[in-house]
Amino acid sequence: MDWSRGWLELADMIWPRRCGVCGDCLDTDERYVCAECLADMPLTYFWSWRNNPAEQILWARTYLQGVVSLMYFSKDNDYRRLLYAVKYQGNAPMGRWLGHMLGLHMHGEYPVPDVIVPVPLHWCRKWKRGYNQAEVIARGISEGLGGKVPVLTGILRRVRYSTSQTRMSVGNKWENVTGAFVIGDIKKAADKLSGRHVLLVDDVLTTGATVEACWEALRCIPDVRISYASVAFVPRNV
Ligand SMILES: [Zn+2]
Repeated sequence: MDWSRGWLELADMIWPRRCGVCGDCLDTDERYVCAECLADMPLTYFWSWRNNPAEQILWARTYLQGVVSLMYFSKDNDYRRLLYAVKYQGNAPMGRWLGHMLGLHMHGEYPVPDVIVPVPLHWCRKWKRGYNQAEVIARGISEGLGGKVPVLTGILRRVRYSTSQTRMSVGNKWENVTGAFVIGDIKKAADKLSGRHVLLVDDVLTTGATVEACWEALRCIPDVRISYASVAFVPRNV
């Protein structure tokens, strides 16, 4: 008898786990999202789509090797609840699961990076939340890619404690992050990243202001190649 499955079935009877999207009870074999919501997930397929819409919004502002996102977000899309749970309800394991899913999709379809760098949180916000959701997602991506790509933290630092961008206008988002990121130790950064393909990771891509600010900080590293991945992409006009 599989005891762990038995315990999970018992736990589900006492305290049912719910789908992060529709709220229905999960079956024992389901994790975070029910089979129906998983099948309907609005995947972008950006990992096999060059010049995709996410890359287009960053054209002329950055020079990136590529941009990938796991799924589309829009105002009336219940999949938003997944990232809300990761960011504001302490559900870090779900963030890792989403990252893992993105890594699996990228595997074999997208050039494998040499190193993954999560977009940093200001230390004060990380202390309040207990973790950086971008780092959790980055570790999931690394696992999905086979577990050999290191996740590097501490190179890129967020030096400004900016207010949450969730409800900001586009213009305010620009001002909010411009100059917010710096390289802590330039020699160490050059040792670790020079000549390498760096995958920058964040939770959601909207205006691209955060990506651009990180790219501005990282571009001083000689021969670095940068691409970007997020769990969600919010297309313009939604
Ligand atoms: Zn569901």
